[in-house]
Amino acid sequence: MPNETILIVEDEAQIRKFLRISLEAHHYRVYEARLGEEGLALCASVQPQLIILDLGLPDLDGQQFITQLREWSHIPIIVLSVRADETQKVAALDAGANDYVTKPFGISELMARIRVVLRDAHPSSATESLFESQGLRVDLSLREVSVDGNPIHLTKKEYELLRLLIASPGKVLTHQQILQAIWGPAQQEETHYLRVLVGQLRGKLGDDPANPRFIITVQGVGYRLAIPIALDDRR
Ligand code: CA
Repeated sequence: MPNETILIVEDEAQIRKFLRISLEAHHYRVYEARLGEEGLALCASVQPQLIILDLGLPDLDGQQFITQLREWSHIPIIVLSVRADETQKVAALDAGANDYVTKPFGISELMARIRVVLRDAHPSSATESLFESQGLRVDLSLREVSVDGNPIHLTKKEYELLRLLIASPGKVLTHQQILQAIWGPAQQEETHYLRVLVGQLRGKLGDDPANPRFIITVQGVGYRLAIPIALDDRR
């Protein structure tokens, strides 16, 4: 199998160089763009399997880049953001970015995120109907949920929330994305509905928000399913 191609869209030469060296050391093929427009053109010509996108580019902002790309492509995108950019980060996820890493980031964290996003993009089986991780077992065809072998009875909305989270393990789902999926577009601002629902689901799963086993709160952004991400490298 050929190695995956990753496109870096980042205006800072230092970071591009650091990413190229790290990614090539993990046997990815790497292309670089300094500008958003250049990046979009490369997406079309080299068709990378993944894009690492800096949100602060000289020509396009990250959200414009994602919106333009998403008009014709589902190539997964991991966004690089700076800590202060909370709003930008959420906007990038809402626009269709798959995940983000906050600068300054460790290379092992970035590699783990890359593996998760690439694995999501190529599910091992399209008909997979059983999810199992850390004692949580969800049979998607029978709509049965259990934790450590004990059956859990969920309401329709609790189950929908869990199904959303396990559909993209490790990926952050924004408040808006979850609200839209469960309550519909009219309720996108009602984050308290979501807080209550997450609290109910956690209660039934026996998950402690302070020390989460299943559902992780990403402050100001949304939620993600806790999955064991191997920080050591497989490659
Ligand atoms: Ca920048």
